[in-house]
Amino acid sequence: MSEVTQSVNNLINQLGKLPGIGNKSAQRLAYHLLHLPKGEALALAEAIRDVKENVRYCRTCCNLAEEDQCSICRDPRRDQSTICVVEQPRDLMALEQTGAYHGCYHVLLGRIAPLDGVGPENLTIEPLLARLRQGGVKEVIMATNPTTEGDGTALYLSNLLEEFSVKITRLARGITSGSVLEYANREMLSDALSGRQTF
Ligand SMILES: [Zn+2]
Repeated sequence: MSEVTQSVNNLINQLGKLPGIGNKSAQRLAYHLLHLPKGEALALAEAIRDVKENVRYCRTCCNLAEEDQCSICRDPRRDQSTICVVEQPRDLMALEQTGAYHGCYHVLLGRIAPLDGVGPENLTIEPLLARLRQGGVKEVIMATNPTTEGDGTALYLSNLLEEFSVKITRLARGITSGSVLEYANREMLSDALSGRQTF
C-alpha cells in the first residue's frame, strides 16, 4: 500500500469500516470514487454530511426525522390510537411499504439482548410509556422481529403495558420465525398485520 497517497489510503480505511466491506472491496470503491467526476463523488460526501447534520429522532416515536417530529407523527390522517412497536426505523419502512397500516409507530431503537449488554434501559421504552400515560391509545401492536430476542422484548413490553387499558396485539406468525421484518415481502407483512392476534 506504500504506492498510494495518504488521502487514498485514508479513504480505503474509512470505506473498510463499513459493514460487509473488506479490504479488497474498499480498494475497489476508493478507486471507483477517484475516477468519478468531482461533483458526483462530492454528492456522496454531501449526502453523508446531510444525514449526520439534519437527521434526528422524532420526539414522539423515535423514528428518523428531519424536524422535531417525523412525517408520520405529523400526518393528521394517521390513526393516533394505534401504535405499532418496531425495533428499528428500517422495520418501520418495511411496514410502511405494505401500505396496509394507517396507525402510528414507536421505534425502540434496538431489542433487549442481554448477551450484547442491551437492557430495557437502552431502549426508548420511557417515551412509549409517556405516550400511553397521555391517553388516547387503544391498541399497541408488537411488531418486533420474530427472533428469540425480538419475542423476549415483546413479552417484556406486554407485561409492562398491562397497567394501561390498551389492547396488546402482535403480528400474526406469517413471518417465519427467525426471519427479519425488513426482509419479509410486502404481502407477507400485510397478512401479518391484518391477522394480528391478541398477545
Ligand atoms: Zn414520529
